Amino acid sequence: RTMLENLAAQPADALLALIKLHNADPRADKIDLGVGVYRTSEGDTPVFKAIKAAEARLLADQDSKAYLGPEGDMGFVHALVPYVFGKDFDRSKVEGMQAPGGTGAVRLAIEVAKRSGVKRVWMGTPSWPNHAQIISAAGMELKTFSHMTADGFADLEALKTALAGAEAGDAVLLHGCCHNPTGVDYTEAQWDEIAPLLVERQVLPILDLAYQGLGAGMEADAYGLRKVLSLAPEALVAYSCDKNFGLYRDRVGAFYAVTSDATALANAMANGATIARASWSMPPDHGAAAVRLILGDPDLTAMWLAELDEMRDRMRWVRDRLAAAQQVGPINMAPLGVQNGLFSMLPLNGEQILAIREKHGVYMAGSGRINIAGLTTGNIDKFVEALRDVA
Ligand code: PMP
Repeated sequence: RTMLENLAAQPADALLALIKLHNADPRADKIDLGVGVYRTSEGDTPVFKAIKAAEARLLADQDSKAYLGPEGDMGFVHALVPYVFGKDFDRSKVEGMQAPGGTGAVRLAIEVAKRSGVKRVWMGTPSWPNHAQIISAAGMELKTFSHMTADGFADLEALKTALAGAEAGDAVLLHGCCHNPTGVDYTEAQWDEIAPLLVERQVLPILDLAYQGLGAGMEADAYGLRKVLSLAPEALVAYSCDKNFGLYRDRVGAFYAVTSDATALANAMANGATIARASWSMPPDHGAAAVRLILGDPDLTAMWLAELDEMRDRMRWVRDRLAAAQQVGPINMAPLGVQNGLFSMLPLNGEQILAIREKHGVYMAGSGRINIAGLTTGNIDKFVEALRDVA
């Protein structure tokens, strides 16, 4: 046996397998609700006009591709701060570094937490599958609690029970907005209860904000994060620009630490840089440079925000239409109207998910997660009827 022959097979990525199945389906009216990217009512995932304009400037003006360093483009990192933390946030309490996507930022947050002595991470489930993988890859213990009640709302009681069982020095990973995969966010009133509890239990908040602006707007979507930061002495933040700037494959994210202890802040960044060096050395530059140009130019900023508004309005329209269906078989559709972002999860079993795919050409993840942006004026009625047929 050679060494590589010792390797265990790995399960195929279910979502990638679903893409292949969808591509191979000859039906013209098939519906893809699988992959997590925004789509227009024409089914496209176009490059933002603001990004195209910024890229044109980069092409004309960029005079070097020399290395920037493990922290990446600090102009980009700092330009995001008022959007994420608020215009009035005390800048001396926050520092950050660029990361390869929100994924890289989550990895940095988890690894920095580990180096600070955190051993256990609490997280609501279901969650973005990579959260558990990253926590496990970092060799940390994952403690889970229920994120969603059976009737489709955020399970605050489960979080409270989890926090009651947490020890000082544990970390709690929370989605800032547009929860993946459920679309179920804590309400503002719930965040108002959560924030003081995090402080009381002396846990380290890790906030993952991957969809700011896709839920209720850039400011509203930051409510929970800002509420926590208004009370907690310290926190880590993982941010992604891949959805709200449509940059997915260009891998644009940022990792921030927040604390009023200047030495702790500097050390959080120094440790993040060390981890980055050993992992990817430095993040890809192009997408972050484009975001920096947009945020530094009022016209491009307005163009970007208008494009983001359009995406959000379209997803709200889809949600309103789904909620208006009210009852589809046993499924209460009303909560989809108050959920946020790209995803919701329908209470379908494996058989029903297979049936809706085979009979109706509707492709959704095995968990029942649907991409809200996969629905359009052209297919939403067909989708609801297909759902009614299998539910
Ligand atoms: N956090 C959450 C909750 C996500 O759903 C995602 C991806 N879809 C990410 C982080 C990471 O996104 P990316 O690496 O593509 O920026």
